[in-house]
Amino acid sequence: MRFRVQVLAAALILAFVGVCPCRAADLALVHAKIYPSPTDPPFEDGSIVIHDGRILAVGSRAAVKVPRGAKVIDCTGLVVTAGFWNSHVHILTPGLIHADKLSPEETTAQLQAMLTQWGFTTVFDIASVLNNTNLIRRRIANGETKGPRILTVGEPFWIETPIYVKSFLENNHVNIPDVQSVSEAEERVKQQVHDGADGIKIFANSVERNVILTMPADMARGIVAEAHALGKPVFAHVSNNKGIEVALESGVDILAHTTPTDELWSAAFAQRLVAGHMALTPTLTLWEFESRKGSISAADLEQGMNRAAEQLNAFSRAGGDVLFGTDVGYTDSFDTSEEFKWMSRAGMSYQQILASLTTNPTRRFGFSTRSGRIAKGFDADLVVLRADPSRDVAAFSHIRYTIRNGMVIYTSGS
Ligand SMILES: [Zn+2]
Repeated sequence: MRFRVQVLAAALILAFVGVCPCRAADLALVHAKIYPSPTDPPFEDGSIVIHDGRILAVGSRAAVKVPRGAKVIDCTGLVVTAGFWNSHVHILTPGLIHADKLSPEETTAQLQAMLTQWGFTTVFDIASVLNNTNLIRRRIANGETKGPRILTVGEPFWIETPIYVKSFLENNHVNIPDVQSVSEAEERVKQQVHDGADGIKIFANSVERNVILTMPADMARGIVAEAHALGKPVFAHVSNNKGIEVALESGVDILAHTTPTDELWSAAFAQRLVAGHMALTPTLTLWEFESRKGSISAADLEQGMNRAAEQLNAFSRAGGDVLFGTDVGYTDSFDTSEEFKWMSRAGMSYQQILASLTTNPTRRFGFSTRSGRIAKGFDADLVVLRADPSRDVAAFSHIRYTIRNGMVIYTSGS
């Protein structure tokens, strides 16, 4: 009997601790306009309570009680969405590439300039140096460096180093071997996944001095099959529609670009991409960055951008899975506002753009039960915007705070 009383008492204590108001939540955002997801209606005057890096409660002001002792951020006039994903970045800038020679603070500063000040709480790095990216990930995990969650493919697979990265790699003493055979490529896939890669990247096309090379289909198939056997997604760099055919044939999961210098994408072509379960990172502003290198006229640039936007439009209208991605780290265009403007010009609504930043990547990469929405139990990864993206999508680039795991990792100057 006495034993049963003790058990009952212990159970009561545990039940009490579970709901104990004295265990104050870490952080509360109040008076915010909150978009819980791209499809749910917003809370006009909403609150979010965060505890231990997770969302404890979200709802209207009346429905959510802010625990005593919580740190409160007044979000009057501000808008909150789930933390953004950028599904096409590179941990390759001078401020990141040799992290062992950089202090954690220097790494934080570079990650902030490039990613966290633009609201990114998770990024997919789709070509870098795996050892170096792993070092940065460890520093973020142990709190030395403030940064986003980084998923990575590590070193990419190409049959020949693309001309536009040759000197960069040489100058930085980075050696990424050309793939010589299917069996060798398969071994490397195994090794990189073993070493921590979350995906694999192939160059279905490699741009060389006077020619665009295309990876042989059997090689692409071997790499993709090996990655899929290990449960990892495959990204493909493409420069033309022939590269897209190799990607389709081999079962690639994500196209890393549109192909504005090739034929436009017909509705039927876009349907084929969707039927092949292919996602797309549009990287529309990449074309502006590339043309700045040459002596292209303003009119030609405008035309190229419009073609890229038309391809995105065809893909989006076909119901394709768009994952926001900019190629930042290869490009120095950290500011995301132009990309949002062009996505909108391509016919995407603010809800579709928000989905490309949140729910589309979390579903695609297997994080949809914990990330991409503001819901009870989800990771407390949030973006606080200065303005409402339903009025103007440029608001997606006007960041007030970036919050990861319940901690403010970026605050704008004013
Ligand atoms: Zn890229």
